[in-house]
Amino acid sequence: MSDHCIFCRIVGGTIPATLVASNTHGIAFRDQHPQAPSHLVVIPRRHVASLADASDGAELGALLLLAAEVARSEGLSETGYRVVANTGDDAGQTVHHLHLHVLGGRVMHWPPG
Ligand code: 5GP
Ligand code: ZN
Repeated sequence: MSDHCIFCRIVGGTIPATLVASNTHGIAFRDQHPQAPSHLVVIPRRHVASLADASDGAELGALLLLAAEVARSEGLSETGYRVVANTGDDAGQTVHHLHLHVLGGRVMHWPPG
């Protein structure tokens, strides 16, 4: 847990966020700048800087299951959705606490920019 990390502060409750789901390993909340009609962020409760620093398979599995759960609760399972983990500078990671974006509610394009 880092006082300097925005997402650790959301986990700790000192920065407000709209929580939509949680499990033992992680929490899911709405992105403050949504890039799709549904845009959730799924993060681990403990500080892990990025996917490149992740090593706990149970934690990663729980985060993926949480992503699927919030996609289901947003009504995205039928139409589809995208799960993205921006990792490092070239991918445009701006918050250095591992997170999965769950995006849906519109048609996505490929390849991403
Ligand atoms: P990244 O660019 O690192 O892949 O994604 C970080 C995401 O976190 C961005 O989509 C950004 O809008 C979101 N974000 C950053 N700070 C906050 C915050 O304080 N609250 C919420 N709800 N989302 C945030
Ligand atoms: Zn953190």
